[in-house]
Amino acid sequence: MKILTLNCGSSSIKYQFFDTHREEGDKVLAKGAVERIGMKGAILAQSRYDGDKVKVAGEIVDHGAAIEYILAILLSANHGVIKDRGEIDAVGHRVVHGGEVFTGSVLIDQDVLSVLNDNIDLAPLHNPANIKGIVACQKLMKETPMVGVFDTAFHHTLPDYAYLYGLPYVLYKRYFIRRYGFHGSSHYFVSQRAQELMGKPLEEMKLITCHLGNGSSMAAVDCGKSVDTTMGFTPLEGLLMGTRSGDVDAGAVLHIMGREELSLGEVNTLLNKHSGLMGISGISSDMREIEEEMEGGNERAKLAFNIFTYRIKKYIGSYAAAMGGLDGIVFTGGIGENSNLVRREVLKGLDFLGVDLDSTKNDPRSSEERFVSGDDSRVKVMVIPTNEELVIALETERLVAN
Ligand code: AMP
Repeated sequence: MKILTLNCGSSSIKYQFFDTHREEGDKVLAKGAVERIGMKGAILAQSRYDGDKVKVAGEIVDHGAAIEYILAILLSANHGVIKDRGEIDAVGHRVVHGGEVFTGSVLIDQDVLSVLNDNIDLAPLHNPANIKGIVACQKLMKETPMVGVFDTAFHHTLPDYAYLYGLPYVLYKRYFIRRYGFHGSSHYFVSQRAQELMGKPLEEMKLITCHLGNGSSMAAVDCGKSVDTTMGFTPLEGLLMGTRSGDVDAGAVLHIMGREELSLGEVNTLLNKHSGLMGISGISSDMREIEEEMEGGNERAKLAFNIFTYRIKKYIGSYAAAMGGLDGIVFTGGIGENSNLVRREVLKGLDFLGVDLDSTKNDPRSSEERFVSGDDSRVKVMVIPTNEELVIALETERLVAN
């Protein structure tokens, strides 16, 4: 099946075009991104399976125009992979927040779309862009089935005592305030892959998956089901991130709001855009730069690195306790896959849990899929490059085929 996957952000769209039946080579025929939608200097860049690369600059006023550009490139004689729009069998959309309604992927119809619109309140930063992408595709590809794949869906198995906050229960009932968790497609993909690598049935495995990138989250995956995760009602909670604070005492936020006379919007920006690695280091939200500065002796970069890694270590301990054991730890995402320093620091001193990192396997700066624990390590540690788009494509195929 030929499937277009779309990941629509507020000013960007990432896409991949799959042929899921392709026997040889990569199932991805083309992948690309449109950046700076609605701004000056908008650009589309695509690379094709055979190495062909193209960049197009132009005025891309909105998501609809961006998707028209994507379709035009996919159809173009020189850089395309199809000859007719009708060859696109389905479109899979990443949707960040499914709320409590969507516990799995869905075929999108007008009813689904109106529920998504009702959910905007839960994810005001993400869902509006996802919806724009869906609506634009519906206009441009009227006959093509669309599927929504939700970041939150994999975490719908969390027990109530893990997903509820210590707030008045009535607020959960009234406004659906609870932990939802995100990066679900990634946690799902790497936990499935870990099971294949370890060769044990998923039903017998207790895994901790660490998705560490600009946004970072961890999940406790017991018998293939997510039973706890660090992100919460929004993708702000939990680990320290590029520009997001992660866990912070709500009382401290109230105090800052009062002292600095911040509005809701301003405090939102403070927590989501000016905190995390950036806020602590004062240098960068990018882990590569943090590591370089740290190695050059910058104390604040070192502090940011220490907070980042300490929190991951702390959650590994708490998730092992929550699951009553641990068989494997997976690192994924830009930092998890590439940073040997982060993995080393996180796992230092965890031998009491049965973790034995093998530095000859860990140290090469490569994102290649592999075990990085010693052969005798009771807890297996793995680097597994994530593939959220493949999950979206396969989910889309499954729903459309059914
Ligand atoms: P992502 O959001 O998954 O694309 O991850 C982006 C993050 O991965 C940024 O903080 C990058 O600095 C980080 N990253 C990418 N490559 C490396 C590397 N070789 N070493 C350390 N961090 C890296």
